[in-house]
Amino acid sequence: MTDAHDEEAAVQAPGRAETPVTSVTDVTSTDTTVTGVSGMSGVTEVTEVTTEVTRLTGGAAEVTTVTEVTRRTRVPILMYHSVTDQPTPATRPHAVRPADFAAQMAYLKDGGFTPLTFAGLAAALEGGGPGLPARPIVITFDDGYADFHTEALPVLDRHGFPCTVFVTSGWLDDAGAEAAGRPLDRMLTWSQVREAAAHGVEIAGHSHSHPQLDQIPRDMVRQELRRNKALLEDRIGGAVTTMAYPYGYSSARVRREVREAGYKAACAVNNAVAGDRHDLLAVPRLTVGRSTTTARFRRAAEGRGVPLIYLKERTLTRGYAVVRRSRSGLGRLGSRV
Ligand SMILES: [Zn+2]
Repeated sequence: MTDAHDEEAAVQAPGRAETPVTSVTDVTSTDTTVTGVSGMSGVTEVTEVTTEVTRLTGGAAEVTTVTEVTRRTRVPILMYHSVTDQPTPATRPHAVRPADFAAQMAYLKDGGFTPLTFAGLAAALEGGGPGLPARPIVITFDDGYADFHTEALPVLDRHGFPCTVFVTSGWLDDAGAEAAGRPLDRMLTWSQVREAAAHGVEIAGHSHSHPQLDQIPRDMVRQELRRNKALLEDRIGGAVTTMAYPYGYSSARVRREVREAGYKAACAVNNAVAGDRHDLLAVPRLTVGRSTTTARFRRAAEGRGVPLIYLKERTLTRGYAVVRRSRSGLGRLGSRV
C-alpha cells in the first residue's frame, strides 16, 4: 500500500481503504451545504448555499468554498377594475368599494411598499432599469372606468403611488367615430386619460374593442392590438409599451402578435409564471375584487400563497481555504477516522 493510497483513504473514502489505487494526483470531493434560508427581508427571500470542494494533489489538500447567495424578490401585481359603490350588474364582482380601496392603499403605504408601473417592472425584469425598490408592488386597473379618475386617482396621488391603466380605446366615453365593443359602465374620456398620464400614470393597451383575443382570426388580433396602441400613443403623445389581455386570455399566436405590435410586456390574470423565466408576455396578476377581504389583500401584498413574479438575483462569492498538509499530517487525520 502506497502513501498516496493512505491519503485518499483518509480524506475521501475511509471506508474503502482497500480500493487499489496506485497513485493519487487529483482527487476532488464536493460537499454542498445549504447553510440556511436566511429568511425574509421585506418581501425578499435570501438563500445561501455553500459548496465546499476538496481537492487533493499529492500531499496537499486544497479546500475551495463557494457561497452562492440568491435573492428572490417577490413582486405582486394587483389587478383592479372599477372602484365604486354603485357598480353595474356586469362590473359588480370586480368593483372594489372606494373605502376598501383607500384602506388597501393605506396598508401599502404603512407597510413601506413602493409601487411602480408595469413598464417599470418589465424594465427591471429585463435588467435594463434602475432595479427594484425594497418592497415593490404594481397596481393596475383594467378597461378604463370613469371611476378611476374620480375615486382611485385622488387616493393614489395622495400617497404618490404610480400605477398602470390598461385602456380599451373603443370603449372610452368620447370615442366618437372610433367607438367599438360594449363598455360595461361609464368609461374615462380622452382628456381624463391624458390627465392621468400627466400624473405619472402609465397608460397601457387593452385592445380596441375588448374581444377574447385567442378566439378571433389573426388579422383581427393584429388590428385590435395596433389600433389600440396607435390611438393611445397619438392621444397621450407618448409611447405605449405594455398591455393586458382582455379577460386574461392569450395563446402563443396572440403573444407573437403582441410582440410584433411592439409591446415589451403583457399581463395575464392568474397564471403562475416565475419572473426569472422571463416570460414577459404572460405576467401573472392578482385579482382584487368586491369580495377580497382585508386578510386576503394582505396575503396578496405580502406574497403568501399566491402566484407572483419572482425576480432572482445571484451573487457568487468565492473563498479559498487552502490547507496544506504534510504526509504525516494526513496520516494523523487518517488515524482519527
Ligand atoms: Zn378588461
